[in-house]
Amino acid sequence: MTLAERARRVIPGGVNSGQRSIPGLTDLVITRTQGSRFWDSTGREFTDYHAAFGPPLLGHNDPDVAAAVAAARASLSLTGVAVTEGEVLLAEQLAELVPSIEKVLLTSTGSEATFHALRLARAVTGRRLVVKFQGCYHGWHDAVSLNVISAPDRIGRPDPTSTGILPEVLDATLVLRFNDVEAVRRAFADHGDDIAAVILEPVPHNVGALLPTDDFLRTLREECTRAGSVLVFDEVITGFRHALGGYQEVAGIVPDLTTLGKAIANGAPVGALGGRADLMEHFSSRPGGPVFFAGTYNGHPDVVAAASATVRKLREEPVHEHVFRLGDRVRRELDALYRRLDVPVVVTGFGSVFVTYFMPGPAPRSYDDLLANDASRFVGYRRRLVEQGVFELPLNLKRSHLSYAHTDADVDRLLEATERAVGAMLA
Ligand code: PLP
Repeated sequence: MTLAERARRVIPGGVNSGQRSIPGLTDLVITRTQGSRFWDSTGREFTDYHAAFGPPLLGHNDPDVAAAVAAARASLSLTGVAVTEGEVLLAEQLAELVPSIEKVLLTSTGSEATFHALRLARAVTGRRLVVKFQGCYHGWHDAVSLNVISAPDRIGRPDPTSTGILPEVLDATLVLRFNDVEAVRRAFADHGDDIAAVILEPVPHNVGALLPTDDFLRTLREECTRAGSVLVFDEVITGFRHALGGYQEVAGIVPDLTTLGKAIANGAPVGALGGRADLMEHFSSRPGGPVFFAGTYNGHPDVVAAASATVRKLREEPVHEHVFRLGDRVRRELDALYRRLDVPVVVTGFGSVFVTYFMPGPAPRSYDDLLANDASRFVGYRRRLVEQGVFELPLNLKRSHLSYAHTDADVDRLLEATERAVGAMLA
């Protein structure tokens, strides 16, 4: 029996997270990672553009991060009392770097960070409703487990991503269209007094890349301020990846709370929730704080060491310059290639994140625009890349990522593989 078959006997679906079991790749067993690559149990090598859904911005097994973690491990393990020097230094860096963060707490995952953000918003406002946007993903917990990738007939009404969620929990989340200023204004006009929080991915990368309009982000800021609602930027993907200060630094809009995860520790299990001090002071980490906050592994020394080493490298080396240059090159040259082959696509993204939608332009601005994307071409193209050792996750609407470890030679390989893949699709 193969390892993958043994996995399916003892692990539901044979994998430990949704969307890891990929049709056509259910026998894949990963054995090694390094830099921009991973290898499977048959010895096949892949250039990795999936990048674990985004964490390894520096590349897999970054030597500086690995050395920092090893050094921390040699001298410190979890005690579960008080604080460590590393936690203080990391919190100071996050407060310095991210415009909205005055105080910050660490979690072990992004889902925990968004969970606590919404609980805090409800606690401080005494209100019930949360606003989210169709196409955005904020983790696995109930309040946000709806309307990520919806079938056309489920857009505009609650579309849970799981069974087992109480209908009243779903009813307390209003789902709006991304970039729809009028819908935001209407929601606040109708329900403003009861909106505790608005949560969004400032760039919804869980459906590839929908870039926000300035007007949209500004309207959210204005309406939340006017209504006394808490604006939460979920920067679990965009934090550190798009800028050390997150996309809020790029956009020049400061939310009340920010959630971070993924790239801030280059792959170590991390999340963070930061924001206005007057809000963060409600957490029970402050004695008497009424909003319960806890986690055995929060601020784990390994993770803190990984995050601190990641920050250091991002500040000291031209990481963003490198990944932004490669990202621009990928988008520009893929676009030129498809034009030459006369295949209508939209190649879009931001910085190190890119995606090719198989649809005519202009670039999509909301989830419903993405209904024009040809899902079978999207997945078929990626399957043909994977066959050639270039790994873009072959699932509809997934984005791809570049890291500091990716090179121009890697990009050459992606472009060559694309030309062959598209040639085969057109044949
Ligand atoms: N928020 C966003 C934007 C995400 O993309 C994710 C995960 O993909 C999460 C939150 C949840 O993070 P985690 O998977 O670490 O719980």
